[in-house]
Amino acid sequence: MNDESGKKLVIIGASHAGSQLAFSARQLGWTGPIELIGDEDVAPYHRPPLSKDYLTGGKALENILLKPVASYAKSDITLRIGLQVNQIDRSAKRCTLSNGKTVGYDKLALAVGAKVRKVPIKGSDKAGVFYLRTIADIDGIRDHTGEGQSAVIIGGGYIGLETAASLRKLGMRVTVLEMMPKILQRVIVAQPMTDFFMRVHQEEGVAIVTNAQVEEIGGDKRAETVVCANGQTFAADLVIIGAGILPNTELAEEAGIKVDNGIVVDEFCRTNDADIVAVGDCTFNRNLFYPKPMRMESVQNAVDQAKTAAATLCEQAKPYNCVVWFWSDQYDVKLQIVGLYEGFTSMVIRGNPAQGRKFSIFYLRNKTLIAVDAINSPDAFVFGRKHVGAPMNFELERLGDESTPLKELTAQAKVG
Ligand SMILES: Cc1cc2nc3c(=O)[nH]c(=O)nc-3n(C[C@H](O)[C@H](O)[C@H](O)COP(=O)(O)OP(=O)(O)OC[C@H]3O[C@@H](n4cnc5c(N)ncnc54)[C@H](O)[C@@H]3O)c2cc1C
Repeated sequence: MNDESGKKLVIIGASHAGSQLAFSARQLGWTGPIELIGDEDVAPYHRPPLSKDYLTGGKALENILLKPVASYAKSDITLRIGLQVNQIDRSAKRCTLSNGKTVGYDKLALAVGAKVRKVPIKGSDKAGVFYLRTIADIDGIRDHTGEGQSAVIIGGGYIGLETAASLRKLGMRVTVLEMMPKILQRVIVAQPMTDFFMRVHQEEGVAIVTNAQVEEIGGDKRAETVVCANGQTFAADLVIIGAGILPNTELAEEAGIKVDNGIVVDEFCRTNDADIVAVGDCTFNRNLFYPKPMRMESVQNAVDQAKTAAATLCEQAKPYNCVVWFWSDQYDVKLQIVGLYEGFTSMVIRGNPAQGRKFSIFYLRNKTLIAVDAINSPDAFVFGRKHVGAPMNFELERLGDESTPLKELTAQAKVG
């Protein structure tokens, strides 16, 4: 139980981080009012299915809600949706809302996430051109899908490729235009992994064009073509731009909260204001498992930071200190990543990336396991979650030997 009895916690942003923080604070003994304010018009929902099962129609909104709507009231959490916080007055400890009203706080949490990076492509204001971050974006996209129609996706990162897979499932002709020499350039380091995703998408009928400099989206009032600098032109009934995201920092910055590639927080999710924490995609955060601050864009980070911040607010502070992980679903391929690649000195491949759809890659810094990419290999992901950070006290070739069960190696991997 904390000694903040009766004090009010206001959380700005009602998604993975904000919602988790509200429930965790309640669980850890926050006794005062908790108000969770979000500017989207729907109750908090899982964002990852947007480019996957929600886009294909496999799941409806009620299937992707983070919690049943009634559970907020049950935990005495006031959920206010469709409302934006426009300003924070730190000296008065008060926020101004888009409806003109104000709300006071004793403690404030910023869980404001990220927004899409807009790119200056001529014609990108035409009908049929979309960015993809919210359920409202997908609802718009879904009105422009149709079997046999053409979709062009600008950007070959996770969101672009997941969207490509979903649109193929809907029977569309799909082209992915990537400006870099390879897809997933920002997030994947191993060439066999890049080649694998190129192959899978080609097998599924997606055309991927790399080194593509998109110049213009053509058409009268609505998108009809995408034109590249070299003159290549692609038919497009639908254009989706996936050019990355930027953390929402303006609100914090205007309030004088420290920002640097995200809202700066320490390992307890504290900002430079003792009464304000920040969590999730909006933060430039400190995870003690890693040597330097970083910005993450993942559900794991949003949820784990939210738990950390809740503990801080409830005076049970425990630093954020864990191995990070992530996943992506494309067709029948589940990619699970655990750890970060930075500083790897070697990699060991288990299985054959050039054939079939099941293999894994282990990344080592000398003999220490630092990351694992697992393709349809939950055992490798579990091994990674247990052993990233541990020395592999056996011949490394054994990691790549599919006849040696990973469970057998578990006993020999000792935490250093
Ligand atoms: C299509 C898609 C697929 C993804 N797939 C995966 C995946 O497979 N695996 C994975 O780990 N991650 C995935 N991600 C990333 C993951 O969804 C994010 O990391 C996660 O949503 C971060 O949660 P968050 O709560 O920090 O921020 P967000 O989810 O961005 O939520 C922030 C919320 O705050 C609201 N807000 C912002 N400013 C204000 C304000 N001033 N007032 C009120 N409300 C405000 C926003 O509208 C939003 O609702 C995906 C993301 C997208 C878009």
